[in-house]
Amino acid sequence: MIAALRGPYLSYTANPFEDADSVCHRYEADGLIVIEDGIIVSAGAFDAALVPVGITPDHYPDGLIMPGFIDAHVHYPQMPMIAAHGRQLLEWLDHYVFPTELRYRDIDFARAVARRFLREELRAGVTTPITYCTVHPESVDAYFEEALQLGLRTGAGKVLMDRNAPDGLLDTAQSGYDASKRLAARWHGRDRLFYAVTPRFAPTSTEAQLYLAGTLLREGDGLYMQTHLAENRDELAWVQRLFPASRDYLDVYDRFGLVGPRCLFGHAIHLGDREWALLAEAGATVVHCPTSNLFLGSGLFNLKRALVSANPVRTALGSDLGAGTSFSPFATLAEAYKIAQLRGDVLTAHQAFYLATLGSARAIDQDRHIGSIEPGREADLVVLDPVATPLLADRQRYAESLEDTLFILMTMGDDRTVRATYVAGRKLHDRDDGRGM
Ligand SMILES: [Zn+2]
Repeated sequence: MIAALRGPYLSYTANPFEDADSVCHRYEADGLIVIEDGIIVSAGAFDAALVPVGITPDHYPDGLIMPGFIDAHVHYPQMPMIAAHGRQLLEWLDHYVFPTELRYRDIDFARAVARRFLREELRAGVTTPITYCTVHPESVDAYFEEALQLGLRTGAGKVLMDRNAPDGLLDTAQSGYDASKRLAARWHGRDRLFYAVTPRFAPTSTEAQLYLAGTLLREGDGLYMQTHLAENRDELAWVQRLFPASRDYLDVYDRFGLVGPRCLFGHAIHLGDREWALLAEAGATVVHCPTSNLFLGSGLFNLKRALVSANPVRTALGSDLGAGTSFSPFATLAEAYKIAQLRGDVLTAHQAFYLATLGSARAIDQDRHIGSIEPGREADLVVLDPVATPLLADRQRYAESLEDTLFILMTMGDDRTVRATYVAGRKLHDRDDGRGM
């Protein structure tokens, strides 16, 4: 299958938290991207001679083509309770999340939500979500079945919880291990899918469960691990009571072999110096979830410590829906910018879009597949419309640079700003023709 896209495109080539913005990206004002069997085979300035015979490129003269966005921390089962009012993390889990997650023992319910969830991610321009499922193995099968049909590169895992949750949401250390192992064998490495061992967070797992999670991670070939870390002050105090022998929150995971490459820690807000240093040294990843952190009043992530530092920590971005309030990476970036502002730090537009694409791809160890527009990468692409609304069109008239255009997009953009989304070279969402799946 051969396809081609023509139009302005932007792709990052290096890390703008380390080098000047100007040397970290490639921008083609009139570009051509040629795709064969889902893989980019050439990308550069448009040249009619490079268009494959018999192919008419999808042409977006007024668009901006970028690599598809990555959402490295999200809970698809929480879509039905997004925007639940008035609680912080621990009460919010008890009052809203757990009652909702109980419904996922029904695989038909899980399938229906997974389908709507993936449609929303694509409408938002996200081509790689990494999601928590629920404790029910059915919730994982439902998700991966839907993702497989769409050909997505995505990760997911069965939540492990063997204490401090309602009966219907508990496994045991052994049953959680067994079910995770079966699911990983079924899904990890199949097509573009990958499996993440998923203890929800320290308070809902016993030491026995965390031990077996670490065992599973060691036994698996290239498995991921995802969990939550230091999101909320009450949570921190609870972890200290439950694990009195641990030096700090991260130490709870570290003692069980859960801190290393491809280990993704959501939030990581309230960390000490030792924890930051250990994350850096271990090559572990933190996932910044700004809309969620503001919504639950959790705190202000220290992006500067994470990325502008003598020992930086791999950092990705997440929506953390349903505590997060939007699927849109633009909302995530806008709130990341505001959190940096509240801390007296700077986040440039190029840094922001790097984080949403190549930066997150590197942080989740998928950059050999996705995150940039260059030959050999999978053709997961998003076409942005910088003038999607009357106000955007008006404001963009005064933009004086690419950076201005990007900053306006991330501050005011939403799903209307996503003109089309391509997965492995196939257009799966088109804002304008109603063909969106
Ligand atoms: Zn989360």
